[in-house]
Amino acid sequence: MGKANDIPYPPINRMHAFTFDQPAYRVIFGAGSIEKLPDEVTRLGARRALVVSTPAELSFAEDAGRRLGGVAAGMFTEAVMHHPIEVVRSARERARQVDADCYVTIGGGTTTGTGKAIALETGMPVIAVPTTYAGSEMTPIYGITEAGVKTTARDRKVLPRSVIYDPLLTLSLPPHVSGPSGMNAMAHCIEGLYAFDGNPIVTLMAAEGVRALARSLPTVVGEPHNLEARSDALYGAWLAGIVLGTTSMGIHHKLCHTLGGSFNLPHAEVHTVILPHATAYNRDAAPDAMRVAADALGAIDAAQGLYDLIVRIGAPTSLEQIGMPADGLDRAATLATQNQYPNPRPIEYGPVRQLLEDAFRGRRPAK
Ligand code: NAD
Repeated sequence: MGKANDIPYPPINRMHAFTFDQPAYRVIFGAGSIEKLPDEVTRLGARRALVVSTPAELSFAEDAGRRLGGVAAGMFTEAVMHHPIEVVRSARERARQVDADCYVTIGGGTTTGTGKAIALETGMPVIAVPTTYAGSEMTPIYGITEAGVKTTARDRKVLPRSVIYDPLLTLSLPPHVSGPSGMNAMAHCIEGLYAFDGNPIVTLMAAEGVRALARSLPTVVGEPHNLEARSDALYGAWLAGIVLGTTSMGIHHKLCHTLGGSFNLPHAEVHTVILPHATAYNRDAAPDAMRVAADALGAIDAAQGLYDLIVRIGAPTSLEQIGMPADGLDRAATLATQNQYPNPRPIEYGPVRQLLEDAFRGRRPAK
């Protein structure tokens, strides 16, 4: 394998040259680990925690506030998806008003991202308690939307200093949210397997993430209160978050960003629908990654294995189902192919347009 889009693309064999630059993470994992929240705050030397959530996650935020007792300084429970700048400003203002010296986020990716957006300004630590499988808590990536345009960037100061993964908090996540959220995590792993800036450790984590998610998600959606499956899925989501935070994502994440941003499609669902097709797109250009992914999925072909898993967990398989207009496909393909970026296979309008057509119709990827 040589070059794609004029960006050097190394083979998947990670024994070739690589850079290993893993941030220091602190993770507390396990059923009931939310009890450690006050200790995690004081361990950081903080004394005034602002608790952050969305309105729908209010009960989580109230519970966190009760547990924090004297170190709870106040709450901001108005987090909004995609972090409009007005909401970010009011969150930062609340943090100033209560003189917060750390931010405890408790909820999905929307909530975690709001804590990061506050920390970007102040540099104060974030303690994240994720309740979905999005993975934002493991990445230095933040996003803010201004004048309708969402900008994402990386800054290590927004990376949470401590993360509490308590599977008990995920028991209430309904099947129609759990399935797509788990496939969102799966997408981080799949793209990490062929990332040009991967390394042998990332490959191990990505393969293990795929394995954990593939074996747990059918049970998670079939028996939402199965704690063992919930723990396994959260374990996979943790690994997926690390992979996302330490490698560059390719065509799959690029397409999802375009479709989510320009057509307002739901985040986790668009990841779910696109993943088998993006995987098929790269099939011949990244054969080693495909073999690792297929093995971890217990399938003969990675793209088909992903599609079959999505069907099995009852998650959406077509863009049409999740609100994509048929007359938007040409524009989506144009937007997604405007810039070149690292991906095993060159990004070209014709094949990308075909990928979108297949995803729109919900076709099982052909071999
Ligand atoms: P979300 O945070 O909007 O949560 C999805 C839904 O689940 C919401 O309705 C929420 O109220 C509900 N919910 C959350 N936890 C629950 C629980 N335990 N029980 C019942 N309901 C629960 O969506 P998400 O998919 O978690 O995150 C998506 C957002 O995160 C997007 O904005 C995406 O861009 C961002 N994200 C960022 C990164 C990053 O690295 N910066 C990574 C992944 C996702």
